[in-house]
Amino acid sequence: LSDKLDKALHVLKGHGSITEVNVAETLKEVRRALLDADVNFKIAKEFTVRVKEKALGQDVLTTLQPGQLMVKIVKDELTELMGGDVEGINLSGNPSVILMSGLQGSGKTTFSGKLANYLKNKKTKKPLLVACDVYRPAAIDQLHVVGDQIGVEVFSDRGNNDPVAISQAGIAHAKANGYNVVIIDTAGRLAVDEAMMTEISNIHKAIQPQETLFVVDSMTGQDAVNTAKAFNDILNFDGVILTKLDGDTRGGAAISIKSVVNKPIKFIGTGEKMEAIDVFYPSRMADRILGMGDVVSLVERAQEQFDEEEARKLQKKIAKNQFGFDDFLKQIQQIKKMGNMKDLIGMIPGAGKMMKDIDIDDDAFKGIEAIIHSMTPEERSNPSVINASRKKRIGKGSGTSVQEVNQLLKQFTQMSKMMKMMQGGGGKRMMQAMQN
Ligand code: GDP
Ligand code: MG
Repeated sequence: LSDKLDKALHVLKGHGSITEVNVAETLKEVRRALLDADVNFKIAKEFTVRVKEKALGQDVLTTLQPGQLMVKIVKDELTELMGGDVEGINLSGNPSVILMSGLQGSGKTTFSGKLANYLKNKKTKKPLLVACDVYRPAAIDQLHVVGDQIGVEVFSDRGNNDPVAISQAGIAHAKANGYNVVIIDTAGRLAVDEAMMTEISNIHKAIQPQETLFVVDSMTGQDAVNTAKAFNDILNFDGVILTKLDGDTRGGAAISIKSVVNKPIKFIGTGEKMEAIDVFYPSRMADRILGMGDVVSLVERAQEQFDEEEARKLQKKIAKNQFGFDDFLKQIQQIKKMGNMKDLIGMIPGAGKMMKDIDIDDDAFKGIEAIIHSMTPEERSNPSVINASRKKRIGKGSGTSVQEVNQLLKQFTQMSKMMKMMQGGGGKRMMQAMQN
């Protein structure tokens, strides 16, 4: 999904000005991307109509940066589509009963543990886990393992195969023992069937939970939407938990589900560990879907790779006007160490994907490195000695031309000036300069 949207928005980001023609073009692409991500046809269409209206309303065409405004409108609408504000779970009961529902393998048991752990860490909450998956002994064991891991008690009754009775007994146990949150883990099946629906519906009626959560594997595409609809028809659930959003799952399911059942997504699961739980932020998810990039990790990576000591030395040289081609070569090597240039640029929001087509990779430095290698040590440290005949020699030696040598010398002079202006700051400042 992300790639497709990127492509659609690329047109706008790349253009200095947009016309009505490419707004329409772009929206068509956005719509196609949504459809490909299993978003209902009607929703995708409505979405693009809304974006178009907003774009026209804000007079996108006459603004200075129409592309960026357009991207913002798409992002805002996408955020809205996924729920707008962050929604918490209802913990007003005493105890508050939270019922988990969903297919087998969707991540109910794992999420029950994550949620218990999350609430337990809030200090005021004392959660109890209740094991109502009575069909597989291993299911009860699994919840006990999870409970041990996070230090939360698990209520189970191995002899009993009536999930309704167990859930009620669990709640009674919580009341008697001072637990203020009860999380009921239930059984699922591989597909929606009547027996499962009847069972979860019976539990739901019997215990009347404050919060019924539908857990869904975000990697299941259009199926996720159908399943959500089936469960919502029976349970009228309060919120959705989107699991397995780790890796490169882009969250297309988040759009579809929210649109079809109109229930908020409340949490996401991002891994198998108990800590891999996050509150669902629609705007963050919109960023993720739009591939707006991860500035934080960019900065972190850059900081790691720019050797602090090296940076300090460089700083001194710049201050003393001693910055030469050898230092320049080192800089290039530093930048190369940071990994694939395209990857890095891809992490810069806005500027990021727009530069995708401009092929910036390590090869971009090859000519430059060759030229520098063809210089004598004297020429490297004092480029002003490079006269016409030296340029000719360097060009020949490096397999480039006098023109290219000239260009590098010019760039180098500019860069030296810029660095002098920046006066220190090392890696961090360098990165800022690169981003601007
Ligand atoms: P249940 O059948 O609905 O109770 O599902 P489980 O909680 O047993 O989870 C099924 C599988 O998915 C297990 O192997 C979990 O470790 C895994 N799982 C659950 N949540 C996540 C998640 O957010 N990310 C990843 N990568 N795996 C998950
Ligand atoms: Mg389970």
